[in-house]
Amino acid sequence: MNIILLGPPGAGKGTQARRLEKERGLIQLSTGDMLREARTSGTEMGRKVAAIMDAGELVTDDIVIGLIEEKLKSGEGRGFIFDGFPRTLAQADALEDLLARHGQKLDAVIELRVDDDALVKRISGRYTCGDCGEVYHDDTKPSAEAGKCDKCGSTNLKRRADDNPEALKTRLMEYYKKTSPLIGYYYAKGLLHPVDGLAPIEDVARQIAGILDRIGSP
Ligand code: ADP
Ligand code: ADP
Ligand code: ZN
Repeated sequence: MNIILLGPPGAGKGTQARRLEKERGLIQLSTGDMLREARTSGTEMGRKVAAIMDAGELVTDDIVIGLIEEKLKSGEGRGFIFDGFPRTLAQADALEDLLARHGQKLDAVIELRVDDDALVKRISGRYTCGDCGEVYHDDTKPSAEAGKCDKCGSTNLKRRADDNPEALKTRLMEYYKKTSPLIGYYYAKGLLHPVDGLAPIEDVARQIAGILDRIGSP
């Protein structure tokens, strides 16, 4: 099963993708995580994307499509959760081609619906574990022990450079201009499943599980 998690920055895509990975054995493919990794690896590509990401703009289609292509090649057919990809119609077309080439298809697009006020709160309270990637929030999902990751015990908890009010404004604008047309695109294909992303994390997970169970059983 291959699914897309679609939604604005802070909607909860990463949080739900990590759960699905654990609960359903799917593989999370986050282009944001891949790009952040590229930044720290000191490659030419990493240097090129750093300023774009910090400003909150979208990285070029060819770069992210290339990253996804590499992962699909190495994937073992367990199924993927695309988190933060596609973000443009060109990326959506490329994904369809790539999946077809690997004898696979898209099964569902889960749209996490959240209003803009909530996003500001989500983004300004977000921090993540630099070692295992677990996602936390100051108010809604704090780590049990301050400064320490519940999952792996690391004290390397970090906030993202682009999680500031100015970059968020640009990220939201990019989302509405370039990514939100995908909602209509996937609706027309009969693949869109909206969920209430404002609900607590557990509720959102239950809504998604219900959808996947329904499409998974004939
Ligand atoms: P968010 O948590 O805000 O949804 P991500 O971690 O998915 O953010 O992405 C962080 C940044 O990485 C984006 O603002 C953008 O600069 C870049 N990025 C990630 N995925 C893509 C993509 N599919 N296309 C273009 N740029 C991307
Ligand atoms: P995205 O990947 O879409 O940018 P994240 O999964 O990183 O979003 O979530 C953004 C922030 O909001 C994180 O701090 C996370 O802990 C928190 N969060 C995620 N889902 C919910 C929810 N349903 N209710 C409250 N807070 C949430
Ligand atoms: Zn951790």
